[in-house]
Amino acid sequence: MQKDIIYLDNNATTKVDPRVLEAMMPFLTDNFANANSTHQFGVGAFDAVKNARAQVAGLIGAETNEIIFTSGSTEAINLAIKGVAENYKEKGKHIITVATEHSAVLDTCKHLDSRGYEVTYLPVNTDGLIDLELLRSSLRKDTVLVSVMYANNETGVIQPIKEIAKLTHDAGAFFMTDATQAVGKIPINVDELKIDLLCLSGHKMYAPKGVGALFVRQHLNRVKIPALLHGGGHEKGLRSGTLNVPGIVALGKACELAQKEMKKNAESILTLRDYQEEQLLKIAGTKVNGNTRHRLYNTSNILFKDADSDAIIMGLSNPENDLLLIAVSNGSACTSASIDPSHVLTAMGLDEKDAFSSIRFSLGKFNTKEEIVVVIEVVGKVVKTLRAMVL
Ligand code: PLP
Repeated sequence: MQKDIIYLDNNATTKVDPRVLEAMMPFLTDNFANANSTHQFGVGAFDAVKNARAQVAGLIGAETNEIIFTSGSTEAINLAIKGVAENYKEKGKHIITVATEHSAVLDTCKHLDSRGYEVTYLPVNTDGLIDLELLRSSLRKDTVLVSVMYANNETGVIQPIKEIAKLTHDAGAFFMTDATQAVGKIPINVDELKIDLLCLSGHKMYAPKGVGALFVRQHLNRVKIPALLHGGGHEKGLRSGTLNVPGIVALGKACELAQKEMKKNAESILTLRDYQEEQLLKIAGTKVNGNTRHRLYNTSNILFKDADSDAIIMGLSNPENDLLLIAVSNGSACTSASIDPSHVLTAMGLDEKDAFSSIRFSLGKFNTKEEIVVVIEVVGKVVKTLRAMVL
């Protein structure tokens, strides 16, 4: 039997909102048609996709023809970065990104690096923010793309997107942002921020895994990219493959709910996160990793000096006791098989030992004060026990 769980790993993935499940369910059961079938049954699915596209576009201030549905952010990132690299290679083969990006961006850039492109990986300051002057001086005539994440998945640090986009455009390049952790949590308007390409993912915003979208600017500063997947010409030829109608409907519903309930969720999650952080920082030898002013309201990355994070995670989820399972993480779920310290924390100047002693708590809209009170108490005990063992 699974233990009762207090889930504080919402940056890894979120629980599906019951209202999202309810919206997608008919498309898994009675309305199972292919959205491209021309019979009346197919038209119902087509209309549902159309509605979802408007819901996704609405959340980020885009036009509906600028939304390409994908299997998630990783695919959207590949489509965007490889697409710009390919289509604008006559102009130049230089790309700029940041050392603390998600592996989906870093590995895509590494791939291009091995194919004759040149990638500049900007460092970050100790608070996780990039230096805008360094970005300015790194931009070149042959720079075609700058890709900077909106909010970091490990620390929640929010980069100055508007300023970055402006510098990028002044240099004649396109601006892409991996907004996987930001979309649905904070207001984003692609026109106000002058974003050219943006990715988002359903499972970070209470929709299921396996669906996401790429925004590709079509008005004002049109971006042209070629397809990665060829086939039936779906998604304006940019992403062939039978549409994942239930997933797309779920993503649309999640976007609609996020837009309606953003303010309420932000206030309640911020209150819980701040309370938890304040209490945990009373433990000696603790510190928040990352800028605390420019940060997502749900994320708290805390260094517990001399307490190994894997041991903390085990202590919070030990299968051999009958306590609750408290789910937290030490780094990105996508690289958790890696035995290296977090590349995000080491890029911010933490040494290996401190990087291995840091825990990410990422809260979500289903968390309660009662849960947070338990977490504070149990984390305190676990850290104390571990430190006593080291002495
Ligand atoms: N970018 C960021 C910042 C993420 O946190 C994640 C997921 O962990 C991804 C990209 C990859 O998203 P997906 O799981 O939808 O491929």
